[in-house]
Amino acid sequence: MDTKVVVIDRTRTGIAAGPDEGTDPGTSGLDALLAEAAQILRSGGLVAFPTETVYGLGANGLDDAAARKIYAAKGRPSDNPLILHISAVRELAPLVRRVPETARRLMDAFWPGPLTMIFEKSGIVPYGTTGGLDTVAVRMPSDPVASRLIALAGVPVAAPSANLSGRPSPTTAQHVIGDMSGRIDMILDGGPVGIGVESTIVDVTGPVPVLLRPGAVTMEMLRDVVGEVAVDPAIAGPVAAGVKPKAPGMKYRHYAPKAELVLVEEDGRRAGEGGCGDAAVDTINRLVRERMAEGRTVGILCTDETKDRYPEGVVRSVGLRASQESVARSLFAVLREFDDLGVDCIYSESFARDHLGQAIMNRLTKAAGYRILHC
Ligand code: AMP
Ligand code: MG
Repeated sequence: MDTKVVVIDRTRTGIAAGPDEGTDPGTSGLDALLAEAAQILRSGGLVAFPTETVYGLGANGLDDAAARKIYAAKGRPSDNPLILHISAVRELAPLVRRVPETARRLMDAFWPGPLTMIFEKSGIVPYGTTGGLDTVAVRMPSDPVASRLIALAGVPVAAPSANLSGRPSPTTAQHVIGDMSGRIDMILDGGPVGIGVESTIVDVTGPVPVLLRPGAVTMEMLRDVVGEVAVDPAIAGPVAAGVKPKAPGMKYRHYAPKAELVLVEEDGRRAGEGGCGDAAVDTINRLVRERMAEGRTVGILCTDETKDRYPEGVVRSVGLRASQESVARSLFAVLREFDDLGVDCIYSESFARDHLGQAIMNRLTKAAGYRILHC
């Protein structure tokens, strides 16, 4: 299959990438560019598109056969359900049996934006979209390209991250092209995404909302709006054999680079300085020397603050430790870069677990297969 790549010049179409700078998503220039993509979605094809979190791989979410094509293109296990993307709050009602009061409050606070909520599904949502579950995940993205594409398609768009299953989520169109060329109909190139980690997922079907996946709508932000929020145990650590996590995707080894990744965490500083001080830097340098002496190529995942303190190894900064936003934005790109460089193993600094750090550490510990070396 030939995959058409369409570049969206956000300056020419009068729209910006970030939710804060968005102006008029309804410009006719953008509509003209997106019309073909919307038509592909309506007729059962696959289109990758930018959202504010990561690139999504879209299909008509009400078309069982179209949604199933996503699983084939990604090589994704078919029990891992998809998120339905909508462009306006009024598009939610037909997809769900009821909208609980907590959901309304969260929607008012965070939609459009990086928050996905789990509802009881209505009859029109096919099981091919929900991986056989009676619940459905719904999100309203804020990226004007995503939003306008969904509006023009006129259907809810099922869209998981546009990567091959098991690879880090794509944060640029080049990542999508690398994974999906020849497997899907079209890729919309809207430049690098703004957030860089996938949406926060909250289950609102029970009496207390449950956080299933941390993201840019943080635990602190959720609690400010709805008070009590429970945390699914699958976020913290590996899921025990035989236990079914609430978000089926959490059981798979996600976000994984090809090299073995080990997180190095300094215990004493865990809360205050995010697990990385002199002892962590020294430990990483020692491990790098040991591996290099064995003839292995070693990557170091660090920050702008520390990058000059690693004399050996392939050193890559994920951004400023002082700016969690910068770290989230670059994390997956750096993991992919290590893949491209073909390093054998990666040692990574750790981060604080508060605010956006909860999402950063969740993705990193999963990428590491929960290998954390305490020092
Ligand atoms: P991704 O496609 O990478 O954005 O991942 C979608 C995530 O949403 C996966 O972790 C899924 O398990 C989760 N998800 C989607 N639908 C549901 C649902 N109905 N209940 C719980 N988790 C869901
Ligand atoms: Mg994914």
